[in-house]
Amino acid sequence: MAKFKLVLEREECTACESCVESCPASFEMADDDLAHLKGSKRVGSNDELDTDDLGCSKEAAEGCPVNIIHIFEGGNKMI
Ligand code: SF4
Repeated sequence: MAKFKLVLEREECTACESCVESCPASFEMADDDLAHLKGSKRVGSNDELDTDDLGCSKEAAEGCPVNIIHIFEGGNKMI
């Protein structure tokens, strides 16, 4: 089981591109002009990714102006 789970609530994305600017390794803008978490699977309207390496995703989550990038560690919400 991966150490972290990243969740992006795409329906709430304002397309500000902050996450792409701060962490292009993990985030990109998709064809529907909403942020996409690279390598993730779609669960409902969310992007979800299990990973052992957060890379720059924590900075992206902290910088999202509408707080829709969440990080869970061992089932506990970090952000
Ligand atoms: Fe969307 Fe948040 Fe990324 Fe801005 S920082 S594009 S609101 S997910």
